[in-house]
Amino acid sequence: HNAPDNASFTLTPIGYVVSDYPDKFGIPRQPGLAQAANASLVLTAPYNDPLTVRGLEDFSHLWVSFIFHQSPERWTPLVRPPRLGGNRKVGVFASRSTHRPNRLGLSLVTLAGIDTHQGVRLRLEGCDLVSGTPVVDIKPYLPWAEARPEAVAGFAPQAPALLPVTFSHDALDTLARRVDSASLHALIEQVLGQDPRPAYKQSEESGRVYGVRLRDVDVKFRALHNDEATTLEVVAID
Ligand code: SAM
Repeated sequence: HNAPDNASFTLTPIGYVVSDYPDKFGIPRQPGLAQAANASLVLTAPYNDPLTVRGLEDFSHLWVSFIFHQSPERWTPLVRPPRLGGNRKVGVFASRSTHRPNRLGLSLVTLAGIDTHQGVRLRLEGCDLVSGTPVVDIKPYLPWAEARPEAVAGFAPQAPALLPVTFSHDALDTLARRVDSASLHALIEQVLGQDPRPAYKQSEESGRVYGVRLRDVDVKFRALHNDEATTLEVVAID
C-alpha cells in the first residue's frame, strides 16, 4: 500500500489546566509522583457542556492529552533524559521529552471530582502540568487493558529515588499560619523529594539556594551533603 498523503490535522484545545505549578521548573517528571498536587481541568466552550462528561464521574483515573505549549516547536531526533544525568542520549520517541514533534503530552491522573455548576471543571490530583497547559482530549483509564505490571521500562525501570526533605523553623512557622498547611507541606516534600535541581548542578557544593514556585509561594531550598547522603532543606517559604 501507498503511504497516506501528508495531510496535517489541526487540534483545538477543549480546555486548560489550572494547577499548583505556576512554573515548569520543579514539576515532577511524571504524574502521580506528587499526589498532593491539585489541579483543575477547566473545559471551554463548546466542550464545557455537562453532557460531554456524563458517566465520567464513575472513573477514578483519566488520560489527559495536552500540548507542551511552553516547549519550543523545534525538536531533535536525540534527546538527553534528565534520568540519565543529562549526558546520555536516546531517541526522542524513546523518551517522554517535552521537545517532540507535535508537542503532544499524555498524563495519567486521578479524578477527584467533577463540578458542573458553571461550565465543567474536573478536579485532578497528581498531575505534572504547568498552570495554563492546553488540553486536547480526555479519556477514562481502563486498568484491565492498560495496566501492565510486567512491562519493561528501558532506562526508567522504576520511580526515581526520593531525597529526604527537612524544613527550617522559619519555613515551619510560615506553614503553620496557612489554611492549606498540611497539603502544602506534603506538596513541598513530594516535589523537593524528586530533587528538582538541574542534573549538572547536583555535584556542586552545599549552600546554593534554589527557588521553586508552588501554589502562591516561593519555596527556597538548598542541598546539604553529609557522609555521601544529600538532604534538601527548605530554608524559607515566601
Ligand atoms: N506525563 C507527560 C508525558 O509523558 O507526556 C509529561 C512528561 S514531561 C517529562 C513532564 C515535565 O513537563 C514536567 O516536569 C514539566 O517540567 C514539563 N511541563 C509540564 N507542563 C508543560 C507545558 N505545558 N509545556 C512544556 N513543558 C511542560
